[in-house]
Amino acid sequence: MKRRDFLRYSASCLLGIMLCDGEQLLEAAPSRQPMIYKRFFRFTEYEKRKATEYLVIHHTGFPDIDKDSTAADIHKFHQETNKWAGIGYHYLIRKDGTIEQGRQPGMVGAHSYGHNQTSIGVCLAGNFNIGKPTEEQMASVKELCWWLCQKYELDPSKNGVIVGHRDLNDTDCPGKNLYKRLGEIRRFCCSGND
Ligand SMILES: [Zn+2]
Repeated sequence: MKRRDFLRYSASCLLGIMLCDGEQLLEAAPSRQPMIYKRFFRFTEYEKRKATEYLVIHHTGFPDIDKDSTAADIHKFHQETNKWAGIGYHYLIRKDGTIEQGRQPGMVGAHSYGHNQTSIGVCLAGNFNIGKPTEEQMASVKELCWWLCQKYELDPSKNGVIVGHRDLNDTDCPGKNLYKRLGEIRRFCCSGND
C-alpha cells in the first residue's frame, strides 16, 4: 500500500471508530428526558464548567413570601440587582412543575459560592421556610435530578451527590420544608421511581 493510501485508510478507520462511538453515545443517552423549556437568555459572560460532580438544590427564597417565579424573573433579578452574568441556576422549577432552563447546562453557574465549577444548580420557586413545595414541583425535581444523574453519570446514593445549598454554604436555602424531602429525591434517583 502506498503511503498516501495508507494514510487515507487510517483516516477512514478512525472516522469509523468515531461514528461507532457516536452511535453508542446516542443509544446510551437517557431516553426519559423531562420536558425542559429553553429560554435563550442573554448572559454578559460565558464560562464553561470544568466538571459536574453534584447537584445543588435551592429555593428562590424571597423574604417573607412563598411565591412563584419564572426563570425570566430570576434572570432579570440576578443580572440587574446582583450584577451577575445572568440567572445563576441551571434549572428553575415553577410551582406548576414546569422546568425552565436558566443558565446553559455546560456553563459555570452562580448558585453556591466555592462550588460553581463542579456543580449544577436546581432551584424550586418558593420560600420553603414558609410554604411547602407543590407535588408538581416534587415530581419535576425528581425526574430532572434522575435524568441529570444519568446524563452526568452521578451516583445519587453517594454522600454529597444531591445536596441542599445549606450543606455547602452558610444559608438556610432550600428552606426546611424542601430540605427535609431531599432523601425522597435521592431515593427516586436511585431507582427511577417513587
Ligand atoms: Zn440556594
